[in-house]
Amino acid sequence: MVRRPPAGDPSSRRGVGVGHDGPVTTSVVVFGSCNMDLVAYVPVAPQQGETVTGREFRTVPGGKGANQAIAAAKAGADARMIGAVGGDEFGAEIRRVLQESTVDVQGLRTAPGRSGTAHIVVDDGGDNSIVVVPAANGTVDALADGDEEIIAGSDSLLLQLEIPQSGVAAAAAAGKRNGVRVVLTPAPAVPLPEELLRDVDLLVPNEHEAAVLTGHDDPERALTALLELVPEVVITLGARGCVYGSREGARHEVPAFEVQAVDTTAAGDTFVGVLSAALGEGEEVPAALRRAAAGSALSVQRNGATSAMPTRDEIVRFMA
Ligand code: ADP
Repeated sequence: MVRRPPAGDPSSRRGVGVGHDGPVTTSVVVFGSCNMDLVAYVPVAPQQGETVTGREFRTVPGGKGANQAIAAAKAGADARMIGAVGGDEFGAEIRRVLQESTVDVQGLRTAPGRSGTAHIVVDDGGDNSIVVVPAANGTVDALADGDEEIIAGSDSLLLQLEIPQSGVAAAAAAGKRNGVRVVLTPAPAVPLPEELLRDVDLLVPNEHEAAVLTGHDDPERALTALLELVPEVVITLGARGCVYGSREGARHEVPAFEVQAVDTTAAGDTFVGVLSAALGEGEEVPAALRRAAAGSALSVQRNGATSAMPTRDEIVRFMA
């Protein structure tokens, strides 16, 4: 089971589960990256050494951290973002979009220099390739004053690997100390130290990341190997859905919704944000996975990352 009662004094945070007046939101904090996505849309992605003509260019605030925070907020959670942007125009825009999406930015710092950027190419098949330049994200290498309080006041902590690993590990340890559910998206895929994995409750790799972490291309084998490291795992399989396993022996396979994908950027971030919001509301694991699949199916049908993320109402309507 992923669900656990909120830690600490329950009156200090918004409740978990369905209240008398309808669904009660859960609090989700992200400790991670903020980038400006610089997106070029092309008919066919360039091969190495090749130049192709794109049809359109857009700037979209993103980064796996900010994406997951916005996905969780749109999916109905009370979301907070801890991280750093640069003192440039991209940083101001990222901060503005987070706030506009109702993400609390009390823990978002402004570092000297540039904001992180992601240089993304999306082809007509909806596939993407990405270069990330961390910049300000590189300064998020430890907890700053006030971060532990923000983490302790949350039900779930969402982590990714686009900030220094020392920062991820410090946040995971704070989550563990405070009884907060720690959810790690191991992207970009790198070998993970045991000290970090010890503090992780739920690991959510995609198929590629699961293969890098375990050496197994077969998701079932990768799932079994990852459950030696953490108590719960979801491997997302793109258009083939996802598989879930827990050390307690639960296994669920959830198919993806059949939709026409136009841009799969941030499908996984939407999945994790919606999943955390749903689990925090008290949904059982299979229902929460289905809601996450619905949220990400909606997002892949639209261009963009955060701008493509659906609201809780849209997800519920889509599933009806
Ligand atoms: P990532 O974006 O991290 O690579 P995936 O590609 O595995 O993650 O996608 C995450 C989830 O998004 C999948 O489990 C699935 O539910 C949904 N999804 C991704 N691609 C599609 C698609 N083409 N059609 C429907 N759902 C999709």
